[in-house]
Amino acid sequence: MTPDPIYTQCCIAGGGPAGMMLGLLLARAGIPVVVLEKHADFLRDFRGDTVHPSTLEVMYELGVLDEFLARPHSELREVRGMIGDERVTIADFSHLPVRAPFIAMVPQWHFLDFLAQQGRRYPTFTLMMQAEVFDLIEGDGRVAGARAQTPNGAIDVHANLVVAADGRSSTVRDLARMAVQDIGAPIDVLWMRLSKRPEDSATAALGNIRNGHVFVMLDRGDYWQCAFVIPKGGYEGLRRAGLDAFRREIAGIVPWLANRTNDIASWDDVKLLTVKIDRLPQWHRPGLLCIGDAAHAMSPVGGVGINLAIQDAVAAANILWMPLQRGTPSASHLQAVQRRRELPTRLTQQLQVFIQNQVIFKTIKGDVPTKLPYAARLLNTFPLLRRIPARFVGLGFRPEHVRTPEAPGG
Ligand SMILES: Cc1cc2nc3c(=O)[nH]c(=O)nc-3n(C[C@H](O)[C@H](O)[C@H](O)COP(=O)(O)OP(=O)(O)OC[C@H]3O[C@@H](n4cnc5c(N)ncnc54)[C@H](O)[C@@H]3O)c2cc1C
Repeated sequence: MTPDPIYTQCCIAGGGPAGMMLGLLLARAGIPVVVLEKHADFLRDFRGDTVHPSTLEVMYELGVLDEFLARPHSELREVRGMIGDERVTIADFSHLPVRAPFIAMVPQWHFLDFLAQQGRRYPTFTLMMQAEVFDLIEGDGRVAGARAQTPNGAIDVHANLVVAADGRSSTVRDLARMAVQDIGAPIDVLWMRLSKRPEDSATAALGNIRNGHVFVMLDRGDYWQCAFVIPKGGYEGLRRAGLDAFRREIAGIVPWLANRTNDIASWDDVKLLTVKIDRLPQWHRPGLLCIGDAAHAMSPVGGVGINLAIQDAVAAANILWMPLQRGTPSASHLQAVQRRRELPTRLTQQLQVFIQNQVIFKTIKGDVPTKLPYAARLLNTFPLLRRIPARFVGLGFRPEHVRTPEAPGG
């Protein structure tokens, strides 16, 4: 038997950071909301485990920061780099004007589980797992809902607003025939894990530049989550050169990792992230709004994708909860969300493109010698300057604050 149709105010496609946060905020304000997530659970490949100071501040504003930080996490208070043999501290979060001035390292599935748990406290919150949106319901020139495949058959979810929060390969955006502007990225990233050992340096650098390579290491407690940057399309060449050559490259960049490069037993242990930077010129159509990666795929530079997705969700909830309470948000309400979030998105992407093209790509093409750049010398000499990158990474260009109320009885 096919499931009965659902009628709601807001239907959100995608239970990633953007979709889950928007669902929580709207339900908390008393708006009926249905989040459709195609996977059975939040467990998935590594997608970034960073919960930024701005997101932690949102948690504080929601009154759940202590509960969140009571869960296992580690705290990243500084971003350090090794350029050749010279060390630089790039960002110092400790002076940010927030309750939790650090990046909380939490597996993304725990973060999403936490948001789901908070959402379930509100009677108007519905999260449907294993519900994959494959079509839009349209009528009178507007999007009026979404159709999702579930284990019990296809279900129609009718809504006054559909939000596409289904990530950088958004199905909903394609179904709505929305054109994406590709900004381009000359790099790809290989992700892998290497075990952590008790003797590992407590001051290991997050970013390492040496021998024409860029190698990033995130401390995940009992292992290092590592990113190896390659020129776009360079993966096949690397594979042809063989796993041993790849292991040697890593040991050449961070010599003390040499004794565990065999953790990479086969190429199956190496995941390719095709880096994309793009954005929608228009984030909305009548009845439909795109947020998060569905509106703008971010480069991994600065690790700010989750942050921006959350900020979009907070802004969308702030602007749309009242129109949704009254009925159907108008085009100008949806435009207001884009207006609010477009500038921070553009500025962040511009900065990412600059770093990606001028620093990372030139390094891996061997166009620049491995020596401490002038800007990095300044950061070493004047610690106050480390607050600038900390602001970009930790808070972003326009930090959002929760303006939605908590409905009585929540
Ligand atoms: C390997 C990797 C490492 C990264 N590292 C970092 C990092 O360190 N820090 C950082 O800030 N960002 C990082 N990012 C980027 C970050 O993951 C994204 O920017 C962020 O998750 C975007 O959130 P979102 O909610 O917009 O989309 P997503 O997180 O992509 O969530 C989209 C959700 O929609 C679901 N979905 C997709 N299609 C459908 C459908 N048709 N129907 C229903 N559900 C659907 C998906 O299953 C998913 O749960 C990384 C990304 C990758 C791939």
